[in-house]
Amino acid sequence: MVEDVTRMYSPLERGPKAHLTDPPILVVQTAFLGDLLLSIPLLRRLRLLRPNSPIVLVGKEGFARLLKELDVVDEVFEVRKGDPASYASVQARLRHIKFEWIISPHESGTTAKFCWGIPAKLKISYHQWWNFLFFKDRVHKNLDLPEALRQMSLLSHQDPELAMWLQDIKGLELRKADVYGRLPQVPLWASLSMREKLLNKSPALPADERTICMFPGSVWATKQWTEEGFIELAEKLMKEGFKVYWMGSKDEMPMTKRLEVRAKGSKSVAGQLSLMQSLILLSHSRAVVSNDSAGQHLAAVAGTPTVAIFGPTILEFGFRPWNSQALVAELFDVRCRPCGMHGHMKCPKNTHECMKRLPVNLVHQRVHQLL
Ligand code: SF4
Repeated sequence: MVEDVTRMYSPLERGPKAHLTDPPILVVQTAFLGDLLLSIPLLRRLRLLRPNSPIVLVGKEGFARLLKELDVVDEVFEVRKGDPASYASVQARLRHIKFEWIISPHESGTTAKFCWGIPAKLKISYHQWWNFLFFKDRVHKNLDLPEALRQMSLLSHQDPELAMWLQDIKGLELRKADVYGRLPQVPLWASLSMREKLLNKSPALPADERTICMFPGSVWATKQWTEEGFIELAEKLMKEGFKVYWMGSKDEMPMTKRLEVRAKGSKSVAGQLSLMQSLILLSHSRAVVSNDSAGQHLAAVAGTPTVAIFGPTILEFGFRPWNSQALVAELFDVRCRPCGMHGHMKCPKNTHECMKRLPVNLVHQRVHQLL
């Protein structure tokens, strides 16, 4: 990888990136896949602001390289969460490069220490009481804004035009759905969609206007709608002539295999496709049904209409599907909602009624609203 970065600065070998002659910019985003995808508008804005600077990303192992495949960044280094040696090894590779800026949307002490060891003219992150030694430009974190815009706001001191747009935007309204589950449009300048690029590639599996992809999993167990709910929904849709794919990570394969067996005719593809192949498949499909998890953000990158199911979390936390063609299915009469920023592994009330009571008919109706 050291050679890769060195090559980036060798004019003879830069090839199609020959224009990247300005000092590079480093973005450190070691969060889970969903948050990483919500960094795309920030990274795209960086490209516009600094068209001649290579953009280097440090991200979580298995996820970050997707953004290089999408050409949102020029170089990627991956770290293993909870493994200090992997952070130290990437830091050692980067500490010889003089970066123009280091931008960190990730707020942990580990990330701050990682950025500390790499030289840069300016280091940018959110304002925290403890991080004044690590970052020179500390931006107020506006909790009214949805997450994608919050991350973009890190550029507000360097990008007056963006700062003005962010000031004018009604952040709170962008995080509310109406009674039909409809969400306000995502501003074009902050879109995640890379649909055009993805539609030019062939999917690894057949997909068309009758294909619906479902993401039944989540890192947090309470954020998962019930398996019975997903099965009944899939059966209804297949009766109407749709094909259903169950999608997700390798860890979710046992569940998606169970769903495949019980919803006859559906197909589990979890753990079988790379993230890039998943995006291509989504872009060729008609719709996505996902819990409040990375699936809804993958669908936004693919530009595919989405029904997002919310249980213990709420839109007001800022993690709405960042997709102009998205509807939300949720219950308003569960008084313990929300019960945690990210959901829990176990329902604190032992009822899990926010998901168990969510009717199949409501999610099915939302799918038809989309179609
Ligand atoms: S406490 Fe309430 S909102 Fe949280 S998981 Fe349980 S039922 Fe859902």
